Amino acid sequence: MRLELRNVQLIGNELALAWNDGSESFVELGMLRRACPCAACGGEPDVLGHVARPHVSYTDKSFELVGFELIGGYALQPRWADGHSTGIYSFTYLRRLAQHSD
Ligand SMILES: [Zn+2]
Repeated sequence: MRLELRNVQLIGNELALAWNDGSESFVELGMLRRACPCAACGGEPDVLGHVARPHVSYTDKSFELVGFELIGGYALQPRWADGHSTGIYSFTYLRRLAQHSD
């Protein structure tokens, strides 16, 4: 079955994602932003969930979500209050982040 996103909701400081297989994922916004996969921010977490990110500086607004777009039915693109919106998070990547978030 192809992974599809049924619903996205911001609950407190977590993004709650409901999937078509009936499961839900929760990703804390700070974690979500630090794991931004765009070219400017860098790579993805390693197998232990550590994100190595040398030259990115954040402000309070970096962790404030102002909106998001769904991209082609396979990814989510968050818009952050500091103007950053180039990170495209595939659904499988979001699920992996959720597994590392607590
Ligand atoms: Zn980024």
